[in-house]
Amino acid sequence: MSATARFPLPPGSTLGILGGGQLGRMLAQAAARLGFDVAILEPEADSPAARVAAHCIVGAYDDPKALKALAELCPVVTYEFENVPAVAVERLVGLGVEVAPGALALAVAQDRAAEKRFLNEAGAPTVAFEPADTPEAAAAAALKLGAPCLMKTRREGYDGKGQRWVEHAADAPAVFEALGGRPVILEAPADFVRELSVIAARGRDGAVAVYPLAENHHEKGVLRRSVAPARVAPETAAQAERIAARVLNALDYVGVIGIELFEMAGGKLLVNEIAPRVHNTGHWTQDGCEVDQFEQHIRAVAGWPLGPTHARAQVEMLNLLGEEVETWPKYAAEPETRVHLYGKREAKPGRKMGHVNRLRGPL
Ligand code: AMP
Repeated sequence: MSATARFPLPPGSTLGILGGGQLGRMLAQAAARLGFDVAILEPEADSPAARVAAHCIVGAYDDPKALKALAELCPVVTYEFENVPAVAVERLVGLGVEVAPGALALAVAQDRAAEKRFLNEAGAPTVAFEPADTPEAAAAAALKLGAPCLMKTRREGYDGKGQRWVEHAADAPAVFEALGGRPVILEAPADFVRELSVIAARGRDGAVAVYPLAENHHEKGVLRRSVAPARVAPETAAQAERIAARVLNALDYVGVIGIELFEMAGGKLLVNEIAPRVHNTGHWTQDGCEVDQFEQHIRAVAGWPLGPTHARAQVEMLNLLGEEVETWPKYAAEPETRVHLYGKREAKPGRKMGHVNRLRGPL
């Protein structure tokens, strides 16, 4: 039987985190600062998060024994990635654990078609899209949307993986097969001026707190750099706040969410996707805000009041990918730069090894 959650969860309680990567590590560090112990469930031993946590259960996310062991330690469990198997959440809930964010947020974030339908219903606009489950349906969808359009697998795409442009509608069946012959969605091209994101949180009491927007730069689908607070018109900031509140309330959400946005010419914002977790484009908050996204997430899931979200500095966040991590001495020597390294043992090409937050002076 699990410990029963009482909110606000008192310090000294143990919080569970599914996933032992860098996001789990930074969540665990924030939780420790607030007096919690952390238990990580993760398939690999010696993960970045396990090395800063009080307990580590090594096992598959859907392993009943591992989930039972986690439930015995933790009245509340959260996660660092959106592909948590639904069965893991069901099992934890069945064992009396409070899982936050909840099953609806996960289900929506795991399926790009469900996500876009949900967003549009919640009043958060997206590009036009069409789901397709067969090569023929993909061709029909490309004709309907018009080419070029972007085909994405409905599930398990991340960092630009599992997506390809369809230049001509006639190519759609071949692109469908090249993506593995799995269900897809086709998206109209977003002719965006910039990519922005908004990190926001909702507490157990329904309070919503929204951070200033970040401007994001990707390379080959992977985030390289964020600058925050992004310079935006007040109406753009207000739109982002409205979108965040609508999404959080419609999901009856508890925790931090990352919402990726396209800023169109004229200032309209479209939602690209949502991540029901702390987000790489929110790392700037560690050094740009009084309460960062990691502490905010822990506060929310533990039923504490949310903290302030205003910026106290301009920050440029740079991801250190693969061997770039070896440049850390240069950044460590810069007085205005904070270095955040994840303790990963091996610097495989493109792997997120750390990031730096360069403070660019007052706002
Ligand atoms: P995603 O995996 O959906 O986050 O997409 C990865 C990147 O592909 C985004 O950050 C955009 O740069 C680009 N992208 C995604 N969807 C679209 C779209 N509909 N139109 C144009 N570019 C897109």
